[in-house]
Amino acid sequence: MFGMAKELLRQLFKKPFTNLFPAKRAPGSVKDFLKAVGEGKKKLNPPVPVPEGYRGKIRYYRDKCIGCGLCTRVCPAEAVVLIPEEKKIRYHMSRCCFCAQCVEVCPVKALETTQEFLLADYKKS
Ligand code: SF4
Ligand code: SF4
Repeated sequence: MFGMAKELLRQLFKKPFTNLFPAKRAPGSVKDFLKAVGEGKKKLNPPVPVPEGYRGKIRYYRDKCIGCGLCTRVCPAEAVVLIPEEKKIRYHMSRCCFCAQCVEVCPVKALETTQEFLLADYKKS
């Protein structure tokens, strides 16, 4: 118990290691901080490098897609939906669990994983 309180106190007075986020909808205090960074008065930690093979947001190359529907069959989250009349798919990122099974099964490489991980948004679309 004493150890935990000691650690808590220690952390209270340490500077945060992470960058303040999200900058886009940041409160005034964060904007002031970013301004100070811009003026060279404060330092921003460099971003953590994304590891090789990271499974981020799925990129869809619509022009390559032949509408075979294989990706819709393997997707465990029903995040890809076939549009039969167009022979194309629709990808719903909000449902995706980033397993990349669709990427592996696509015969024409119309899907790929990216290193994009900043995906939080207020809009579902
Ligand atoms: S990464 Fe997985 S969950 Fe996301 S669309 Fe592909 S198969 Fe579905
Ligand atoms: S597996 Fe590839 S080609 Fe087939 S529907 Fe999905 S994205 Fe299109």
